[in-house]
Amino acid sequence: MFMIGCHLSNSKGYSNMAKQSVEIGANTFQYFSRNPRGGAAKALDMKDIAKFLEFSIEAGIHKPLAHAPYTLNPCAKEPKTAEFAKYVLESDLSRLENIPGGLYTIHPGNHVGQGPEKGVGLAGALLDVAMPASQTTTLLLETMAGKGSEIGCTFGQLASIIDLVGEAKRPRIGVCFDTCHVYSAGYDIVGDLDGVLGEFGEVLGMEKLMAVHLNDSANPFGSRKDRHAKIGEGSIGLEAFGRIINHPLLRDLPFYLETPNEIDGYKEEIALLKSMRD
Ligand code: FE
Ligand code: FE
Ligand code: ZN
Repeated sequence: MFMIGCHLSNSKGYSNMAKQSVEIGANTFQYFSRNPRGGAAKALDMKDIAKFLEFSIEAGIHKPLAHAPYTLNPCAKEPKTAEFAKYVLESDLSRLENIPGGLYTIHPGNHVGQGPEKGVGLAGALLDVAMPASQTTTLLLETMAGKGSEIGCTFGQLASIIDLVGEAKRPRIGVCFDTCHVYSAGYDIVGDLDGVLGEFGEVLGMEKLMAVHLNDSANPFGSRKDRHAKIGEGSIGLEAFGRIINHPLLRDLPFYLETPNEIDGYKEEIALLKSMRD
């Protein structure tokens, strides 16, 4: 099954996002767990969630992916920011237990001058504390472009973060592979997709690859910049996306578009990608 969807606004609730997905030919979607630039969360509407879960079964909606706010920095330096990160992680993970089978993606963080090694250590330690043993939601670390002091821009850093989480919790951690970010970080998914996935398998284990953010890049290969382009309009290009969505190691994963589009643009992109599936 081709699981494809896009980032949607959750301002009108879960049922609305599921219906919108169906309208644009999608069978999954991504949304922000709370205000992406602040961190405030709306109270959960349990009636809406019940309706959503029922509709999802009927309509075949799979693996809704919650994206953490950008203000969450798992390797913060300032005590206040670190406390906020712990609070948001714990609160989001607890709220998401109401959405069975859901995924939750976070950016591994910005080391803000502490160095990537310290950043990796802080992020791993925080996850170990904030992830409850009973958690059923799968937490995904997003592959980053490496802009500024971002960590998580190498597979090795992601593996080191996961290694710091208690073994019993590790099956509930995976990686969200952002095509724009990995290409900007210097992984050549255009010229050598097999090689990049081989390296991922060696360093992280293929079972850790659990979701794909499907974005073209407005910047050249290895730029360490993070600006998304529409599919086929950036440096990755349409042909490479054909290979990505059909690759045997990727094709059964959920794909989420985060391209600069309004809803009609997403509908077109989804139709285009569907036409490119083998
Ligand atoms: Fe992201
Ligand atoms: Fe992304
Ligand atoms: Zn990005």
